[in-house]
Amino acid sequence: MASQEEVFKKLVAHCKEYGFVFPSSEIYDGLGAVYDYGQNGVELKNNIKKYWWDSMVLLHENVVGIDAAIFMHPTTWKASGHVDAFNDPLIDNKDSKKRYRADVLIEDHLAKFDEKINKECEKAAKRFGESFDREMFCQTNPRVLENVAKRDAIHARFVAALEANDLVELKQIIVDCEIVCPISGTKNWTDVRQFNLMFSTDMGSTADGAMKIYLRPETAQGIFVNYLNVQKTGRMKVPFGICQIGKAFRNEIVARQFIFRMREFEQMEMQFFVRPGEELKWFEHWKQFRLRWHKALGLGDEKYRFHDHDKLAHYANAATDIEFQMPFGFKEVEGIHSRTDFDLSSHEKYSGKNIKYFDPEINESYTPYVIETSIGVDRMFLSIMSSAYTEEQLEGGDSRVVLKLPAVLAPVKVCVMPLVKKDGLPEKAREIMNDLKFDYKCAYDEKDSIGKRYRRQDAVGTPFCVTVDHQTLEDNCVTIRHRDTMEQQRVAISDLHAIIGAEVNMKNLFKKIVE
Ligand code: ATP
Repeated sequence: MASQEEVFKKLVAHCKEYGFVFPSSEIYDGLGAVYDYGQNGVELKNNIKKYWWDSMVLLHENVVGIDAAIFMHPTTWKASGHVDAFNDPLIDNKDSKKRYRADVLIEDHLAKFDEKINKECEKAAKRFGESFDREMFCQTNPRVLENVAKRDAIHARFVAALEANDLVELKQIIVDCEIVCPISGTKNWTDVRQFNLMFSTDMGSTADGAMKIYLRPETAQGIFVNYLNVQKTGRMKVPFGICQIGKAFRNEIVARQFIFRMREFEQMEMQFFVRPGEELKWFEHWKQFRLRWHKALGLGDEKYRFHDHDKLAHYANAATDIEFQMPFGFKEVEGIHSRTDFDLSSHEKYSGKNIKYFDPEINESYTPYVIETSIGVDRMFLSIMSSAYTEEQLEGGDSRVVLKLPAVLAPVKVCVMPLVKKDGLPEKAREIMNDLKFDYKCAYDEKDSIGKRYRRQDAVGTPFCVTVDHQTLEDNCVTIRHRDTMEQQRVAISDLHAIIGAEVNMKNLFKKIVE
């Protein structure tokens, strides 16, 4: 079996070879942690965005969208806390000269204890078979207890250090845990320092008095500063939500793992405005809704978990991540935060404008509390690609690489192929495609053997191939081939719409996620 690292390398190579993701400005050797999406990547990405957007604005009559500018007045970022507090604690290894996030080093170290505990449990489960009681085992096995105690002790110090912003203690934890640099293998560390993650640039010429502005590190603030515009012009009543999809920029230091951590990325965020005191009820509501959204894609329910935050951001009173099992472990794909009235109150203070909401039901003005759901398009893309990528051994010694993408998200839904390039078959195939293309992204392929053409479509995740042969001209039937099962069926051309539609219609997913 290939190691997870090898599988990940293959996935990255596959993304490039089949037009999903290219390194940015590759002819100049690329730009660190910046990527471009190719012809198939952009289709998949657009489908993810459509799935998200429609699940928000179609399924909720009290959620609307906006599209705010990337540039915002610089005071926005003072008010939001990003100028003063959007920092990562960094540490360098003096031998490898590599820079790391101190919190990530410690979190990775903590995860190793969980791995050890899991291994003990797996071993014992094999030994005891059916009668194995995991809970009982964990409460009594000395090796498990020892690892739990060690993990909890480090964890408690870690949380306290983060809470107190104590950089000296963070370094001390790294030293005490004897954490080594994965590159050099040494413990030769610098002190921990804070580093602001916002990119800045100048707006206007210097002669005019240029203004230092920031590239937004999150899309949320564009929603906050517009919330009253939308509320008034849309006659929205609390509770209501505003959603947005757009680019965000962070000068990430530890930029690794492909499109998992980029310097320019895309977010899909929703801010949901609620009455003060009702925020935790809505927090729970959106947590469950968002998990259903993920699970409806059918990537495997066991690949998701919630991870509650140890350290709450300066604005939050509850926060959780939805983590997905990537090839390199469970990682955050989405954050759900109860942001209190921090942002709106702060904008009110910094702008000097009254941005309170008047609630006609209780005849009161107040600053709404906010629940945020924030998901990275690129991380979602990566989670889908990594679970879809499959190498299969077939009967007869053959093998194939197939992307088992959820059919609704696949870049191309159907590829139409004439069996041969003559006898009127290409014309018939085009006729079929010209009819299907109003509804589905189609491809046409008449080159090479049918087997090779199937493999090409498997590699980009096309759920259906339709083959036109000589008999088609007589009986108006075609062969439809299903990607995952490779099963082939003879069907009437007039039935194609219904067969394809049943699989690729987003409505089927939406029905699963509404309560
Ligand atoms: P992390 O802890 O991994 O840095 P975060 O907690 O800072 O992430 P949030 O600020 O909650 O992330 O952002 C919301 C979402 O935006 C994340 O769940 C993730 O999907 C996405 N995201 C954040 N930073 C990046 C990045 N550098 N590249 C790609 N996606 C990102």
